[in-house]
Amino acid sequence: MSISWRLSLISPKTKYPEITVPSRPCWHLVSGRNSPVCRRAFPSANRVKVYGSFALDLDQGAGIKPLQNRNEVVYVMETDNIQGQSVLVEKVISGGFCVKCGACVGLCPYFNYFDGKVVVMDKCQADTLRCLQLCPRAEYEGTSLHPIPEKEPIGPYRHVLVARAIDEEIRNRAQYGGTVSAILMEAFEKGDIRSAVLTDAGDRLSPGGVMARNREEVLDCAGSRYSGSASLSVLNRAISQGEDKIGVVGLPCQMEALARMERMKPDGEERSARVSLKVGLFCTWALDYRKLKAFLREAGVGGAVLKYDIPPPPADKFMVRTEKGWVDFPLSEVRPLIQKGCTLCQDMTAIWADLSVGTVEGREGWNTVIIRTETGEELIEEAVKAGKLETGPLPEENFEHLKEASHNKRQRAKQVELGASGSGGEK
Ligand SMILES: Cc1cc2nc3c(=O)[nH]c(=O)nc-3n(C[C@H](O)[C@H](O)[C@H](O)COP(=O)(O)OP(=O)(O)OC[C@H]3O[C@@H](n4cnc5c(N)ncnc54)[C@H](O)[C@@H]3O)c2cc1C
Ligand code: SF4
Ligand code: SF4
Repeated sequence: MSISWRLSLISPKTKYPEITVPSRPCWHLVSGRNSPVCRRAFPSANRVKVYGSFALDLDQGAGIKPLQNRNEVVYVMETDNIQGQSVLVEKVISGGFCVKCGACVGLCPYFNYFDGKVVVMDKCQADTLRCLQLCPRAEYEGTSLHPIPEKEPIGPYRHVLVARAIDEEIRNRAQYGGTVSAILMEAFEKGDIRSAVLTDAGDRLSPGGVMARNREEVLDCAGSRYSGSASLSVLNRAISQGEDKIGVVGLPCQMEALARMERMKPDGEERSARVSLKVGLFCTWALDYRKLKAFLREAGVGGAVLKYDIPPPPADKFMVRTEKGWVDFPLSEVRPLIQKGCTLCQDMTAIWADLSVGTVEGREGWNTVIIRTETGEELIEEAVKAGKLETGPLPEENFEHLKEASHNKRQRAKQVELGASGSGGEK
């Protein structure tokens, strides 16, 4: 294990030295050359310089405060060995910004997912920082994909069209046109994928990731659950079990985590090679599952939810179907349940996917499809040839509106980011 780190002298005479704390590499302050703290923080450190007594403390790189004991000997180090897990926990999970993509879950034994929450099982000492490299809500030089380039609000694309499954059973069980389920079935038949990471409806617990391997398992997952599901945890498990030719259906934040995985060190490339198809879903926001559950309980909506829907504007409602039928809520009532991390999300159309799929405003039972890559294009062509999918042009008006909605989401997120960094205010 090698850690690159440098030592910097801060004058012992200065009471409150001026330090610009960079986000990365991070400043660490360790007291006692061979103290357990020092050894734990820098297990492979082979050189430690002593600068004398300091009267300052760096509060996890975030602030400076005087030490209690002014005679204590401390070392100030600049190092790449920031503790990945603790940064992720502090900045993302405890900060309430986790969007439950699941990229960190099952990557190591320390993160788990239970009923709508990412839980930390134990402290991690690894210096690879893979969780931090992957997390779509964490900054990490080398893997961060923000800011998203402004050029095209819906990201790179080859064609945009409308589509729906020809198979009526798929359409009846799907959220809208069943395009996602139909193309998965084509990908299975063509041998493009051997398994697919999907999201189930959840039962007594939150929706979660499942590995589907055939038509029935794909149909069991059809439909949208408007909350995070940590489904990428299933991808991590499949990769560690040696699987390849994996398809992934996920939200834009999950496609972003996959794109970061390609850049992740040391084994990102190898892991990415196991994924052969990425199908992204459009997403404006998702709800916090636990808040949603409490909200529905309070509203007297009990039992299993059979379907959710958020029909396109001007409907302005969130719909829930149980065995007793549909119940509608004004969107203003569910907006407070939106995951905090979604307010920072700049991507509505899953720009890092092979194919992105959403609804078509004003045309019930159809999907908008953005074809982005050769893989995506070939699959759509094959699905049409095989009689699984029918397609047509996306009306110009819908296309313009899609671009506008994507642009607006990005601008809102940028405003929130500016507000959070203190350089501006949220509108
Ligand atoms: C949280 C969320 C927000 C969305 N917001 C928008 C939006 O603003 N505008 C828009 O046009 N479309 C949105 N969609 C997409 C839309 O609801 C449909 O998923 C999409 O149009 C595909 O429809 P389909 O009939 O082809 O899907 P189906 O054939 O029914 O397949 C749906 C697939 O979605 C997967 N899935 C379900 N829930 C989740 C989840 N929580 N996380 C990850 N994967 C999931 C399932 O595994 C299934 O394979 C959203 C979806 C979700 C889950
Ligand atoms: S957003 Fe994803 S990667 Fe980040 S902490 Fe949450 S589950 Fe983990
Ligand atoms: S708004 Fe962004 S972060 Fe939130 S669930 Fe959708 S894609 Fe993920």
